Amino acid sequence: MDNIIFMLAALAQSRKALPECLPNPPVGCVNVDVQEIVAQGYTQVPGKHHAEADALKRIQGKGFNFLKMYVTLEPCSFHGRTPACALAIAEDCRIHEIYVSILDPDPRNNGQGLDILRKAGKTVYVGLCANEVNTFLNQYLLR
Ligand SMILES: [Zn+2]
Repeated sequence: MDNIIFMLAALAQSRKALPECLPNPPVGCVNVDVQEIVAQGYTQVPGKHHAEADALKRIQGKGFNFLKMYVTLEPCSFHGRTPACALAIAEDCRIHEIYVSILDPDPRNNGQGLDILRKAGKTVYVGLCANEVNTFLNQYLLR
């Protein structure tokens, strides 16, 4: 049940991204320490932070032992206008578990973001609140 609450919090964040984030998809992210949200983020204007980087920025320099990240879309695996979020998460030893709601159908990503996270030893769960997230996010995804 808690997991659902946190993913819905990430979905609520993602709605704040519009319309400034376009043409990037509006994504939301929350980081959770034990049962508490310690950082939230969403997709900024193109060239600025994606949701994951936005949330990580808010806990920069802070020590956490075991963070869970909830993000509405698979973290990007490619360096576009910004560095790949999946690499940033993979390198952050505070993040242990990542809950991804839906896969990114963008052919530059499409499972590769998850691969990066898993190869870095992170535990990755996919599909939490997928219906709710898809209803909002689907229309903005690149295919
Ligand atoms: Zn990204």
